[in-house]
Amino acid sequence: MIGDMATVFVSGATGFIASHLVEQLLDAGHRVRGSVRSLKDPAKVAHLRALAGADDRLELVEADLLAPDAFGGRLDGCDVVMHTASPYRLDVRDPQRDLVDPAVQGTRAMLEAACATPGIRRVVLTSSIAAITDQPDRGRVYDETDWNTTSSLQRNPYYYSKTLAERAAWQFVEERRPAWDLVVINPSVVIGPSMTSALNTSNGIIAALLNGTYPVIFDLTWAMVDVRDVAAAHVRAMETAAAAGRYVCSADSIPARRVVTLLRENGYDAYRLPSIGFDNPVGTWLAKLASWTQPKGIGQYLRTHLGAPLRFDNTKIRRELGLEFRPIESTILETAADLERWGHLRGRRGGTSDPLR
Ligand code: NDP
Repeated sequence: MIGDMATVFVSGATGFIASHLVEQLLDAGHRVRGSVRSLKDPAKVAHLRALAGADDRLELVEADLLAPDAFGGRLDGCDVVMHTASPYRLDVRDPQRDLVDPAVQGTRAMLEAACATPGIRRVVLTSSIAAITDQPDRGRVYDETDWNTTSSLQRNPYYYSKTLAERAAWQFVEERRPAWDLVVINPSVVIGPSMTSALNTSNGIIAALLNGTYPVIFDLTWAMVDVRDVAAAHVRAMETAAAAGRYVCSADSIPARRVVTLLRENGYDAYRLPSIGFDNPVGTWLAKLASWTQPKGIGQYLRTHLGAPLRFDNTKIRRELGLEFRPIESTILETAADLERWGHLRGRRGGTSDPLR
């Protein structure tokens, strides 16, 4: 057990997931050194500095994933590394430069720095279900033994970046046999309350449903998990001595139609939720055709996921790390309330914030 009062390095500390992770680590009594791309904007780190325990036990340093030796010297005195930083966007101009390079170079730089730092006992890497599959087989339940072998720079490049980064990490461990061990967390779509006003790509799915971005109900089934559970998974991966290998971190899978109904029945019916059902074979065929008019990354995602429910077996993380997941329907409703609180919802019919009025 790497337990009491560890000093934990968290890369990408201002991120959606990492902000909750920093909070949970401080709450558990650990010391945290968080890296951010730049410390120039105090507003971007204000929520971290305001956390309970931050005055005494939180230190922030700068590190850019693309800088040579990005984390060199930054880990001195740390016991554990949590590498969460990686660009998370489906649509980019240059997939190699904007996704793959920071994901892979950043991971390698972190592992090199961990090797050069005596005292590091464990590295916890935030991978993704993107490294497991980018085109679900209907009816198949995926687990830690599955690897994404189909993504490329041209096809679902975010998925490709996560697959290459996780592969690079396991290869590094195989070749270098470091003094620390590697544990990998593979979350599904992460939603939940945000500690900042930034709209994360994954919470953006719920915002898009409420804002009328989706004209119809697609035959999409999302595997989802609460951001607080993902943070807890990282903490448990550190604290559980026997933790090993990859851990699928997904609470449940939920069809788009169920998400829409849930929101409609719980006070969000005044927003622009889709009502026309395209969740049938003809609708899927039409939606795949229309996907070619979408930005490249979004279109690829739709073509590989429409009509193909994505399901995961989360037995390993529950059994080995003792993680219990919040019910995803409660998290969806909390996410909607949080989006409203941060002003991300604009599609309320008849409301003063309705841009179409
Ligand atoms: P965020 O976009 O909120 O966080 C990403 C973090 O990575 C930010 O802190 C960002 O810093 C940092 N980052 C990106 N590029 C660089 C760079 N070149 N140099 C330094 N830092 C950089 O996303 P999430 O919190 O959702 O994602 C965190 C991790 O979880 C990622 O590895 C992502 O792939 C993974 N993940 C996320 C899922 C989700 O649904 N949200 C699902 C599965 C995995 P900055 O703020 O400066 O841009």
